Parts: sequence; C-alpha cells; structure tokens
Amino acid sequence: MKAAVFLDRDGTMIEDVGYLDSLSRVAFYPWTADVIRALNGAGLAVVVVTNQAGVARGLFSEAFVNETHRYIDARLAAAGARVDAYYYCPHHPGGRVAPYTRCCECRKPGRGMIDKAASDLGLDPAQSFVVGDKWLDVQLGRAVGARAILVRTGMGAAEEMQPLDGVAADVVVDNLAAAASWIISRLKSEI
Ligand SMILES: [Mg+2]
Ligand SMILES: [Zn+2]
Repeated sequence: MKAAVFLDRDGTMIEDVGYLDSLSRVAFYPWTADVIRALNGAGLAVVVVTNQAGVARGLFSEAFVNETHRYIDARLAAAGARVDAYYYCPHHPGGRVAPYTRCCECRKPGRGMIDKAASDLGLDPAQSFVVGDKWLDVQLGRAVGARAILVRTGMGAAEEMQPLDGVAADVVVDNLAAAASWIISRLKSEI
C-alpha cells in the first residue's frame, strides 16, 4: 500500500477565486507544478480531493469540473508533473439542483473521497498527508489518520486566525511548496 498526498484544489493548488466557473479563471501558484513534480519524484501518489458545491448550486456542471481537471493536467504535464487522480464532491445540502442537493459521505470533512481513492488506487491513508487551506481539510486528515497540513494561501491565513476547537494541524505553513518540503523531510526521517 502506497502513501499519498491528498491535495485540496482551490486555495491550495490553484488560487481560490470563489466558485471557479471558467477556465480563464484558473490561476496556478508559481510553485505548484514544481511541487507536484517533486512529490511524483518522491514516490507519493498525488490525489486531488475537492468540494465543488457549485454543481449542487447550479453554478457549473460536472462536465465543467472534469474539463477543469483536464486543463490542470495539461498545464502540469507541460511542466513534467502529474496528478494521479481527482475526486470531487458535487453535493451540498443547501443546493438547488435536484440530484446533487443532499447530504453525502464525500463532502469534506467527510472521508468519502479519501476512502474511495484508497480503495481505487491501493493507498494507505495512515501513511499519507492531507494538505489544504481550510480546517475542514485538517479535519479530513485527522478523520482518516493521515498527517494534516494547513497552508496559509487561499483561506488559510484567515482560518489560522480562527482556530477551531479540538482541531489542530500537524503543521501550518505558508504554501504548498513549504508543505511539500515538510512532507519530504518527514519521509526521509522515517526511512
Ligand atoms: Mg480550499
Ligand atoms: Zn458529496
């Protein structure tokens, strides 16, 4: 069973622009492709886990979410970097599009996406890392027994100022590049 880095998308890999509803609004952080290439090189699976309630809210379609991920893949491939798989939650209990407007197991901090990824790809969450810009990403990491890293990009700096009772990250760092350095140094120290 393999270790993975479960990456949040908006505010962690790419800028959080609110509901991302156009490819022209995809803005990579300058370090993202290099970081993902380094994680690939370290032998970690890189898996994106993202809440996309905009689908339930009728702001964009699942087809658009998939198109966005193909676009991200093409941009990463040009830099020699690879995401192994994408999982997204299109649901929200307060949505307005019928099939998606419900409670679900996959909306973070629920663990559904990681459970599915672990089973699809043979990953061991206990050896893995979750990186995100919200406490719900940290909660997800805790729920699956992974190490949890909060980044200060996106909503992260604001989240850091508003601690959530009983929820602590293993580390809080400035951005995904610092998160990857922390992860890779932990792996080395464990060998
Ligand atoms: Mg986020
Ligand atoms: Zn869901």
